[in-house]
Amino acid sequence: MRRFYFDHNATTPVAPEVREMLGSALSEVYGNASSIHHAGQVAKQKLEQARRQTASFLHCGPKEIVFTSGGTESDNLAIFGVIRRSTAPSRHLITSAIEHPAVLASCAQLEREGVEVTYLPVSPAGVVDPDDVRRALRRDTVLISIMHANNETGVVQPIGQIARIAREAGVLFHSDGVQAAGRVRVNVRTLGPDLYSISGHKFYAPKGTGALYVRPGVKIMPLLHGGRHEQDRRAGTENVPGSMALAAAAGWMEAHLDAEGERLSELRDHLEASVLNRVPDVAVNGGAAPRLPNTTSLCFEGVEGEAMVIALDLRGFAVSSGSACSSGAVEPSHVLIAMGLSRERAKASLRISLGRGNNREQVDALADAISQSVAHLRKLSPTYTAHA
Ligand SMILES: *Cc1c(COP(=O)(O)O)cnc(C)c1O
Repeated sequence: MRRFYFDHNATTPVAPEVREMLGSALSEVYGNASSIHHAGQVAKQKLEQARRQTASFLHCGPKEIVFTSGGTESDNLAIFGVIRRSTAPSRHLITSAIEHPAVLASCAQLEREGVEVTYLPVSPAGVVDPDDVRRALRRDTVLISIMHANNETGVVQPIGQIARIAREAGVLFHSDGVQAAGRVRVNVRTLGPDLYSISGHKFYAPKGTGALYVRPGVKIMPLLHGGRHEQDRRAGTENVPGSMALAAAAGWMEAHLDAEGERLSELRDHLEASVLNRVPDVAVNGGAAPRLPNTTSLCFEGVEGEAMVIALDLRGFAVSSGSACSSGAVEPSHVLIAMGLSRERAKASLRISLGRGNNREQVDALADAISQSVAHLRKLSPTYTAHA
């Protein structure tokens, strides 16, 4: 059976040019970047080159990049790093109800440690209101953490406005940019967050690679203690080939971002139009908001999202219900619930996320498979009756 991958927000395959580069890096760049001999100096030089490339991808300086093991670590380093650095007697953090678990679970842990956390709601379209951020500010607010783009709906948040509010209030602002980086242009200077998380495997680098942007002058407490790596912000012998791969993938994305964004948004819009044309009682979650070019979240009334994932997998299509991180769990998506969907509608939702390997023919085949699977599952559904 031919298999087509439509789950790029969960992870992406390693790009051919990254794989090739990584192969030679693994055999040739084996030194410890802290060693003073030749092998160490080669590794150090490659690491710093990767840092400059990653910095240029985000439009910042190389000293502002901390390499990490991925998005989860970058989010944890930003949040725990800022909060633990503060010695104030009472500390308050503002985040949103639609964050990735890497942020939400970090906040939950900080709550157990005595930090107060405000979870902002979102509009029915899935957007955080910057005025809500302003209203939630307190004298003891230390950090605001709001994602750049949501992994389930692709909805893009107004982080430029939130950054301005944070700066005026003298509060640090972290943004989880794991879905945005590599999908839309990111310039941390003009957007203005103090900390910004990215993850390599969401844009065609291997799993286990990531980075955190830290604005000059922002002090964070490390999560990992040991050697003096990454300017004392992340101890541990550097993953030089991984950082080189992250930088190479970022370089490819940077060069192809506009063309690829346009191509994917056309394919995504075509997919939505085909499905909406052929299948009754479908809604696009977050369709009224600005979205990433590659993502669609569709709600098929009367159908279980999990059943759709299985039905489509049997036809050769990889898609997701809710976020990958909660797949297997029966709980409906916290993101869709925050947008005001009922539990039933949230569970009836499917996420399709496109990427480099997808084309028009695959999208047409996916639309066919969706309309057939929905029709079949609705026949079996005890709750579904067509509206029209
Ligand atoms: C995937 C993802 C993460 C976690 O990144 P990992 O590299 O898998 O740890 C964090 N935030 C968002 C929005 C994501 O989509």
